[in-house]
Amino acid sequence: MNNNFRQDFPILNDTNNPVVYLDNAATTQKPTSVLKAINDYYTKQNANPLRGLYNLSSIATEEYAKARHCVAEFINAKHDCEIVFTRNTTESLNLIAYTYGLENIQAGDEIVVSIMEHHSNILPWQMIAKAKQATLKYLYIDNEGNISDKEITAKITPKTKIVSVTQVSNVLGSATPLTKIIQQARKVDATVIVDGAQGAPHQKVDVQALDCDFYVFSGHKMLAPMGIGVLYGKKSLLEAMPPFLRGGEMIETVTEQSATFAPLPEKFEAGTPNVAGAIGLRYAIEYLNNVGFDYIQAQEQTLMQIAIDELQKLPYIEIYGSNDASKHHGVLSFNIKDIHPHDVASLLDYHGHIALRAGNHCAHPLLKYLNLNSTNRISFYFYNTKDDVYSFIEQIKKVRSYLGYDV
Ligand code: PMP
Repeated sequence: MNNNFRQDFPILNDTNNPVVYLDNAATTQKPTSVLKAINDYYTKQNANPLRGLYNLSSIATEEYAKARHCVAEFINAKHDCEIVFTRNTTESLNLIAYTYGLENIQAGDEIVVSIMEHHSNILPWQMIAKAKQATLKYLYIDNEGNISDKEITAKITPKTKIVSVTQVSNVLGSATPLTKIIQQARKVDATVIVDGAQGAPHQKVDVQALDCDFYVFSGHKMLAPMGIGVLYGKKSLLEAMPPFLRGGEMIETVTEQSATFAPLPEKFEAGTPNVAGAIGLRYAIEYLNNVGFDYIQAQEQTLMQIAIDELQKLPYIEIYGSNDASKHHGVLSFNIKDIHPHDVASLLDYHGHIALRAGNHCAHPLLKYLNLNSTNRISFYFYNTKDDVYSFIEQIKKVRSYLGYDV
């Protein structure tokens, strides 16, 4: 079975280097339109934006602004200036911690994250908690990856000042109950940050409907190049925050001893920006809008259903999180009895050109909580096919015999 979008992805059609690419939670492949847009920018439009008064620089400035507008529309931000370009989710989260966090957290305050967080949504808050003598608390999950209502009301209390949670776990694929978390955070006047790294690529995001204070994601996990990320923040919050990095492009005036800063969003974009990356992100969004999130979700769920059904037939497989395909949002972690995930990944690559992830997925606290050292992880995007899943299953069935086990 093929899928029409696949032809747009050169790397998936390279007959010299065949690959069954099942590591989309780590990064996605790039369609021709995005590759061409980046190439066109560098071949026809490249200049340093925001400074030059000549034509090329104006074009680069306009293209950069168009990209920002496209991102604002994509997540339904009220104002373009609420979109700050960063390198990735990690930088966006650090920006919030170093500016909003350092300014607003006091001794005795509590910061709440979930046990499913990626390290990039844990380490910045550990730093703030330590610097400010605050406490970092965790929302824990049940066996299926759910956070209960009781857990939400027990952990998000009047002492809570920041709640920073992932939209979808990069290990279990489970979604956090964002609406309930945000409702509770509003009751206690806590600020809410959503890590959308595994959310924005797969579902329609509306930051106004969600009513989060900040929303962050990475371009490279949604068809755009590496090195471009997004920080959305409510205008009033961003305006009140001090800058993160200081230097060119982000100032209004500078004297020998002091400086005043540019308005949003430049205040948070010190130095020469990644214009080509922003343009790539715009074309990626246009591509995704054309595919449509209904199709993306339906395709991912079809593939997940097959993967779960087939894996469940194998008595030596343990699946982590829910057995319900609709709860996985394109991500599935599992282990093969007696076999280290690194061996699984190497064998699948060697025998089937299958690219899947093995390890701890930058989520040590979650793996410890689940009593695991590491897992195998497959993660789908809309360009994956049923054939991809069946090739994967065919190889999984052989792994134990490759290593001399009676199957
Ligand atoms: N949060 C989540 C949920 C992720 O899956 C990832 C990437 N695996 C990140 C944050 C970090 O993203 P990046 O490396 O692009 O900064």
